[in-house]
Order: sequence, then structure tokens, then C-alpha cells
Amino acid sequence: MVNNPFGDPGLYISFTFRKRALLFDLGDLSRLSSRDLLKVSHVFISHTHMDHMIGFDRLLRLLLGREKRLHLFGPPGLIRNVKGKLAGYTWNLVENYGNRFHIDVSEITSEAFRTAQFACQNGFEADADPIVSPFEGWVVKEPDFTITVAALDHLIPSFGYRLDERFRINILKTELDRLGLEAGPWLTEFKAALYRSDDPSSEVIIPPSEPGVKGRLFQLGDLADRIAAFSPGRTIAYITDVLFSETNLDLMTKLAEGVDHLFIEAAFLDNDRHIAERTYHLTAGQAGTIAGKAGAKRYTLFHFSPRYKGQEEQFRAEAEEAYREHLPTDSTP
Ligand SMILES: [Zn+2]
Repeated sequence: MVNNPFGDPGLYISFTFRKRALLFDLGDLSRLSSRDLLKVSHVFISHTHMDHMIGFDRLLRLLLGREKRLHLFGPPGLIRNVKGKLAGYTWNLVENYGNRFHIDVSEITSEAFRTAQFACQNGFEADADPIVSPFEGWVVKEPDFTITVAALDHLIPSFGYRLDERFRINILKTELDRLGLEAGPWLTEFKAALYRSDDPSSEVIIPPSEPGVKGRLFQLGDLADRIAAFSPGRTIAYITDVLFSETNLDLMTKLAEGVDHLFIEAAFLDNDRHIAERTYHLTAGQAGTIAGKAGAKRYTLFHFSPRYKGQEEQFRAEAEEAYREHLPTDSTP
């Protein structure tokens, strides 16, 4: 999580050994370093209430003038909101920037994506009409992971997201040593080739680790057999700002089914259930219930209302009790 449980929502997922990261929600981002933020390629917005969107400006300021394409996803209305934020500044002189910074903003419905493209070089004037493409069940699908979405009810749509890593490639250090190979950037490309399911007979070129040493050449399949161990991919779900209704409960249980780690809001304690209901938020016990019903192996609560400062333990206790009560009997957390 970007912030402590009383801070703005935000989940930062980095890819080990790659200059890349994903962000879920754009609350206050001041705790993330510029270095971390520069890695962000895709942002998944639950909804555009201020506490989920105020970090947009920090990201914009940092990326301005860089060669970069940032992709934002979220519920209908997101294009208008981003357009409004961009319209809040004066953009003369940006046409002189050598680098091209683009922001693609996609609104998702059950039928389609509507994507508006904003380019720094023309002062972030949106292209006339959004590009419409069919929604085929996922938000992003790449060789190594997929992001899916559920439109939940927060009086307005609030999107919950799920990340499924396809599989995990673990490099066996002892085998690397045995072959006299040094870990390096070539491993990233090697893994990418495996995720792309490249032809096993294709070549992997390992550059020399120091001058005077020869580079090495392997066949992808042979090298994978020697140095790679495959394990199931990690799964993560992110759910925030939702009413505890039957429809939401169904959708959330499905979205977070069996995930390794569920990140879920818990704005109120169970005593204040009526406030949670009125404001379309969850209590700690409700969050624990969802985590349990979904069979999440682990969960993290966030978005505590500031009225409960000092009562963090109470949140954990209420959630844990409900979690254990609802966990399917066949799952072992
Ligand atoms: Zn919120």
C-alpha cells in the first residue's frame, strides 16, 4: 500500500528487476519516490472521488517532458475528469518539448472501452472522438499477467480489480553457477521469451559479463530446462469504496476468489455499520467476511476513517473474526 491505513487509498505493484510498475488508485502519492513513479505504466482507478485521484497531478508533473505513454483505466466519466484536470493548467511552450508524453484514458463498460488520447505536444487537447473497442472480459492482457475488473456499487460505480500473474519463473542460482553464468539484464529478456512462449529452439544470447570473456549461446528450451523452475503466478485483488450489498458481495467474492492477497477497504468499525451503509463503505467485519468468503489467502485492510485513530487493532480483530468464520472449510490460509 502506498499509505498507512488512515491515508489515501493506493496500491503500488512493482515488477522485480524490471523498470515497470502498476498503480491502483491515485490518492496521495507523496510517499512514493520519483524513481518509483517513473516506472508506472498503467493506472487502474476505482472511481474519481478526490481521495482516489488527487495524486494525478504529482504523476503528471513528474512525467511531463518525458518519452512516455501512461495508460489510465476506470469507470465512465474518467475521460471528462482527466480532461478537466488537464484543462486546469496553461500549456503553451510544451510544443517545444523534444520528448513525447502521452496519456491514454480508457473508460470501461461491460460492452466497450472508450479511449481518449491526450498528447503533451498539443497541449493535451483530446483527439476529437474517443476510440471505441470491444470489451472482451479483461482490462489488460499481457504475456505474463492479466487484469480483470468488477463494477461495484458505491452509489456510483467503483471498480474492483484483480491481477493474475500467468506463472512465475524462478531462476535456479545453483544451476546458473554450474553453467558459469552471471545474472544480468539478459534474464529479463529470457523470461519475456518464456512468457511469450517463443520457439524452444530460438537462441538466447548471453553477453560477456566482463571484457575478455566470451558471450554464450543457448537454445531457449534447453536453457529453461537447466535454470528455470516454474511455479503458479501470484494473484492479487484490490477492492475499495463499496456497499455491503448482496449484489456487491457476489461480485466481490467472484473477483477475489482464491487470491493470494486481497487489499480491501474497511472504513468503519462494526458498531458504525449504519454509517457504512449510508456512505456506501465497508466495516472491518464486512471486509473480513468478503476476504473469508472469497477464500483469500491473505488480506490487508485500508481506508480507515480518521475518527478511529489509535483503534487499528480493533479493525484487525473484527475483520479476523469474520474472516475465520466465513473461510471455506477446505482452504488453509
Ligand atoms: Zn474513498
